[in-house]
Amino acid sequence: MTKTLDPSVATLTDPRLKAFAGSARRLTILGATGSIGRSTADVIAAAPGRFAVEAVVGGRDAEALARMAIELGAACAVLADPHGYQALATLLAGTGIEVGAGPAAVIEAALRPADMIVAAISGAAGVAPTHAALAAGRAIALANKECLVCAGAAFMATAKRSGAQLLPMDSEHNAIHQALGGADPASIEKMILTASGGPFRTWTREAIDAATPAQALAHPNWSMGPKISVDSASLMNKGLELIEAHFLFGIEAARLDVLVHPQSIVHGLVTFADGGVTAGMAHPDMKAPIAHCLAWPERISTKVRRLDLAELGALTFERADMDRFPALRIAMDAMRHGAGMPTVLNGANEIAVERFLAGAIGFRDIARGVEAVCEAMDRAGEAGELLSVDDALAVDHIARDRARAHLAIGRDSGTVRV
Ligand code: NAD
Ligand code: MG
Repeated sequence: MTKTLDPSVATLTDPRLKAFAGSARRLTILGATGSIGRSTADVIAAAPGRFAVEAVVGGRDAEALARMAIELGAACAVLADPHGYQALATLLAGTGIEVGAGPAAVIEAALRPADMIVAAISGAAGVAPTHAALAAGRAIALANKECLVCAGAAFMATAKRSGAQLLPMDSEHNAIHQALGGADPASIEKMILTASGGPFRTWTREAIDAATPAQALAHPNWSMGPKISVDSASLMNKGLELIEAHFLFGIEAARLDVLVHPQSIVHGLVTFADGGVTAGMAHPDMKAPIAHCLAWPERISTKVRRLDLAELGALTFERADMDRFPALRIAMDAMRHGAGMPTVLNGANEIAVERFLAGAIGFRDIARGVEAVCEAMDRAGEAGELLSVDDALAVDHIARDRARAHLAIGRDSGTVRV
């Protein structure tokens, strides 16, 4: 794994993006019908004349995608589900909006001429189109953390080769990007990501183990898609974000930390060699980091609620409890292990979350199942060094198959088999 700080990434400055200042920036939105996609549309609507939309991509919901394409005046709309073509074509007939469907059409959409790609597909499904755009030199506003967890080394190598800019949209990484302020990477001592603690922050281990999907989806501070909501409840999300930060900022595991902060006002902190600390703060509203990425390196106005610290009165912080939230420990172990282990973690977790949401396994089986698959693939020598995105996707595939097999036993049986 990367052990050195990479100044070209840590400073995140790209003169080519400055060249777009003043004219409308052309965007393509991958995952346009999701929670980030919706917030991106709101940011665009609040900044008239600043943005134009080239393509919008969605998963299965033709109606939602057609609505989004019309609302944003997109030139093209593509569904990942190949069976959705006819429905989408019918909905968009007479609008002049080009229509496509299927995985190849998604890649084509990601490669259409655009100044910036908003990568907001959920899960490793975002890896191929996001990587294709990155390889073609497109600036990427990256919401999809699974891209870097699944194939971080390959993504960063591609970014370096193509010279493309990777702007962090995940709120903690965006806060750190802002807190870095172009600092010399050698002066960075530590990066800290905050976690709200999720809906189960104060629950006992027994109660957490028995949590239902509805309870896991009820996040106290953020309104998000189902997969990331479950990850936030297990704290797997924070583990994935540590791995994301590791690759994005080129910082080793030992200098990354997590702090539980229930109010979700401080999102990320940077400690410098002289003891100074800078923090990125905002109300928990994704429109703030989205606007920061879309307008980079300028700033645009948003309707995000302004911070009134006197009104808030107090901000509190606590350490993360790895006993009640084993998924965080398992993710940190995978980060320290390096090579293919974060890929295995991510693939197994996606299947475990899917099965939990389907009511097939219990909440505690998510962490147990992911750990079992990580251990099994380590023993089998299947989590070795990954040289390319194709390597990563092959390991991801095996991890998913193993997770499906191991988690096929039944709800909360307590016997995840390996
Ligand atoms: P979501 O489930 O609300 O939306 C996901 C989007 O991806 C939808 O448009 C869906 O149609 C599309 N999609 C799903 N499978 C697809 C496929 N195979 N091909 C193409 N499109 C597909 O998820 P979200 O909450 O918007 O999160 C999106 C990403 O952003 C995730 O990686 C998440 O971790 C990250 N993120 C989200 C938030 C948040 O507040 N929601 C915050 C930080 C990071
Ligand atoms: Mg986040």
